[in-house]
Amino acid sequence: MKIIIRGATVIPMTAHSPILSETDIYVEGNAIVGIGQTGRSFPETEAERVINGRGKIALPGFINSHTHTPMTIMRGVSDGRGFPRADDRIPLERDWTAHLTPEDHYWSSFLAMAEMIRSGTTTFVDMYRDMDRVGQAVIDSGIRAALGWEILTFINDETRWLAYDEATAARTFDECARFAADWHGRADGRIMTLVAPHETFTCQEPWLSRAARLAEELGLGITMHLAEWQPEIDYCRERYGKTPVEVARDAGILDQHVIAAHCLFLSESDMDILGGRSFHAVACPQSHLKLATKTTPVPDLLTRGINVALGTDSAATNNNLDMIEEMRLVVFIHARLTGNAAAIPGDTSLRMMTVNGARALNREHDLGTLEVGKKADIVLLDTSGPHMHPFNSLLSNVIYSASVGDVLTVLVDGRILMEDRRIVAFDEAEVIRQADRCVARLRAQAGS
Ligand SMILES: [Zn+2]
Repeated sequence: MKIIIRGATVIPMTAHSPILSETDIYVEGNAIVGIGQTGRSFPETEAERVINGRGKIALPGFINSHTHTPMTIMRGVSDGRGFPRADDRIPLERDWTAHLTPEDHYWSSFLAMAEMIRSGTTTFVDMYRDMDRVGQAVIDSGIRAALGWEILTFINDETRWLAYDEATAARTFDECARFAADWHGRADGRIMTLVAPHETFTCQEPWLSRAARLAEELGLGITMHLAEWQPEIDYCRERYGKTPVEVARDAGILDQHVIAAHCLFLSESDMDILGGRSFHAVACPQSHLKLATKTTPVPDLLTRGINVALGTDSAATNNNLDMIEEMRLVVFIHARLTGNAAAIPGDTSLRMMTVNGARALNREHDLGTLEVGKKADIVLLDTSGPHMHPFNSLLSNVIYSASVGDVLTVLVDGRILMEDRRIVAFDEAEVIRQADRCVARLRAQAGS
């Protein structure tokens, strides 16, 4: 399909390109083939769609670098609880475990995708189980994703929480390997797969080392949680006499391409270990605030040249999947913590959820900016609302004033998924209905 976005204000997010006013974007197939008059690549008469971009801001699609879409149906059930302790899990995840079906995870993840598209996210990094069903929802929704089946080594039993279980470890490892090999490149290339050891405590050795070898064999990246919580720190110290980062290094994990969520408990020497590697941290500021936990040391990591992307984590601990909120919160948290309002400049946080997200996926060459030759993953923001005026600084309005309701039109892989706030790629009402139906059934089955 050939599409022209006519006359938009384009924020390309490239290193040196300025904001372009009244600019046309040409899309052919799944790629951007021209930007501006000099980039014109086909006449308007050949365009199957011309989108009016006047008064709108075009941005590269947002990249949510850490979430768990099958947990979206657990939204709103663990508020005010802080980080789960051994005796205090997310109630519905505990009570529903025996009743959850792959179909529940399909509709839960599809619900997440509808929410993400509505808030301008075009790519997300996801890890959980039943990832075949998440992959199917990616096919059906039109979004782009990097998916990993979690390798876990604990029994899902509240009386013996996190007890090592060889059968679970072997089964989830095999599922991870099968899924990663089967699904990479599906959905016309919109799906990439990752190896996903859950974390250094919940995925114990020798499975961390095996996960590293699997990633090497398959030529895939790894996504995991790292240095996230106190029990993980305690376990690594007691069992290995090391920090989680040292455990990951010695397992060979850090020799691979790694997208690591949280990174909250990092020492100076941990950060020294992480520098100079293909290591990408993911800050999830809203989830960290809600759980009353620590903060990803974003300025320290960036100063050391370590890439940091942004994520929402799951809807159970956030409780939405809105990257615009994350962009703003990461600025405010570090302003407050450091006493320096410019500790993370606003344009850095916008980079974290576009360019840095693409780097974290090893996809800098075709995602993360609006440039000729890149994938046509494009967000159009409405600027007609009073909160988006005046235009003293367009970039400031995007970073500090915009909200999810301003996301107007979203393209992924050259396809219009949402236009003028209406999702056109699938039946959104049916997705919401089905997700609600799953929850009603689970509540009845679990007596909750
Ligand atoms: Zn997580």
